[in-house]
Amino acid sequence: MSHPTRPVAVVSGGSRGIGRAVVHRLARAGHDVAFCYRDDHDAAGAATRDAEAEGARVLPVRADVTDPEAARAFVAAAEHELGPVHTVVSCAGIIRDKPLLMMDTADWTRVVDVNLNGTYHLCRAAAFGLMKRRAGSIVTLSSVSGLHGNAGQANYAATKAGIIGLTKTIAKEFGRYGVRANTVAPGFITTDMTAHLSGSNAEALRERITLRRFGTPEEVAELVAFLASEQAGYITGQVLAVDGGITL
Ligand code: NAD
Repeated sequence: MSHPTRPVAVVSGGSRGIGRAVVHRLARAGHDVAFCYRDDHDAAGAATRDAEAEGARVLPVRADVTDPEAARAFVAAAEHELGPVHTVVSCAGIIRDKPLLMMDTADWTRVVDVNLNGTYHLCRAAAFGLMKRRAGSIVTLSSVSGLHGNAGQANYAATKAGIIGLTKTIAKEFGRYGVRANTVAPGFITTDMTAHLSGSNAEALRERITLRRFGTPEEVAELVAFLASEQAGYITGQVLAVDGGITL
């Protein structure tokens, strides 16, 4: 059923961390939101209730972004239940960190499958609708690792650099249809993904960050919501870091 007064967003990886904050922030900005997640129903339920409290209609969908059919079905469900999609945010991502010489093909392939192929599958599933309606904003999640590389993250950094190329290309192909595409490159953000960084490790990292702290998911979501909005109407093809100055 369509709902012409509220823009609709689809968010991958919306059950936790940055994706969950994005779902909540977009709901607060007036979007109805469909989000997908891999397997944690309880987390998805909590994210749903959070966003519904902002007055949004929210559709949680269990879908693995590595499967192109599942990504298509996710976008189709969003359009069927909530209406034409305007905003696409690709947050689903994983790490399998190892030095290159310890990395096996499974570690490499899984990270490429989720991070890079998953971003492609989501964008591919949603892009035709945005083009047809001549409006929309795509926001992908890169990382400072994708900009500068990071020892121990060959697989992850490669996917995050790939996402930049993918997003800039989408910006170039779809600009003429009024569709924008931008990438957000977070530094260290406090989520499950960085939970293994504790004690002296975390302390040493903080010393490298200009603002001397990790960021919050909400600080990343704020930029994502801005990029989705009309206020960012002349911004496309950009890579914007939210990294506390670690790349300075
Ligand atoms: P997180 O581990 O807290 O959450 C990951 C989310 O992705 C979860 O909702 C999970 O269900 C979903 N997901 C994982 N595999 C999936 C799959 N195959 N199909 C569908 N959903 C899947 O991670 P996070 O820290 O919130 O990271 C979100 C994004 O931001 C990722 O792309 C990550 O690479 C990027 N990022 C995070 C940081 C950081 O410091 N946390 C830094 C830079 C970039």
